[in-house]
Amino acid sequence: MSTLTVENLSVHYGGVRAAHDVSFTVEAGQSLGIIGANGAGKSSTLKAIMGLAPRRADAIGFGDANLLRAPAHTLVRHGIGYVPEGRHVFPGLTVEKNLLLGAYTSSWRRTPIDEVYTLFPVLGEMRHRLAGALSGGQQQMLAVGRALMCRPKVMLLDEPSMGLSPILVAEIAGVLKRLNADGLSILLVEQNAKLTFEVTTSCLVMENGEIAATGASADLRDDPRVRRIYLGL
Ligand code: ATP
Repeated sequence: MSTLTVENLSVHYGGVRAAHDVSFTVEAGQSLGIIGANGAGKSSTLKAIMGLAPRRADAIGFGDANLLRAPAHTLVRHGIGYVPEGRHVFPGLTVEKNLLLGAYTSSWRRTPIDEVYTLFPVLGEMRHRLAGALSGGQQQMLAVGRALMCRPKVMLLDEPSMGLSPILVAEIAGVLKRLNADGLSILLVEQNAKLTFEVTTSCLVMENGEIAATGASADLRDDPRVRRIYLGL
């Protein structure tokens, strides 16, 4: 069973400090959320784990793998799936080809494509359409489906709800809960605290690049300060 471990992670872009001394673990099968305002350092934390942002850390590991020594393109082989902010689907390729690209480097642990179509029936219906012709919500599902194609053990998602209607946000939440119930570990970065509390069992709150609060999602959801700042209640 693989635990994702992050110890004292800091991210700097030149003189800009995006994250400072961030530490947490995601146990096998756990779902952890990171919430916080615009610019709090959530995306930078995720990108740094993936090796896509300048980082310093005492440790970043997944199971036995030392991710500080693993280039970004090898992470998929360790069972790490990543859904970047903004989806980044290939608009000129069909839905099916986008999905197949998700398993391009990992044919040995590929998810049968029909499993993804079962999870997202709309992708099956549109398998021969160009990804660029899909709505924003459908593209988000495609981005999640593509990350699932390499049969990850942990999935890192960056703002999957961005720009989606409440109905589609609910659909994404349902899929993430189902995947987690089936054993996939989830690290979910979101500005949408309501969605995060619904999908995850525990959460970190980031402020100015640091972890300002941690706790069970249900407790944070009921915390008056968190409700005021992040839920507008
Ligand atoms: P958002 O929800 O808007 O993505 P966030 O919590 O994910 O916010 P980050 O995107 O990690 O926050 O940004 C943290 C800080 O780092 C911000 O001050 C941001 O302006 C800065 N930053 C992010 N990316 C870069 C970059 N490539 N170059 C310089 N500064 C950056």
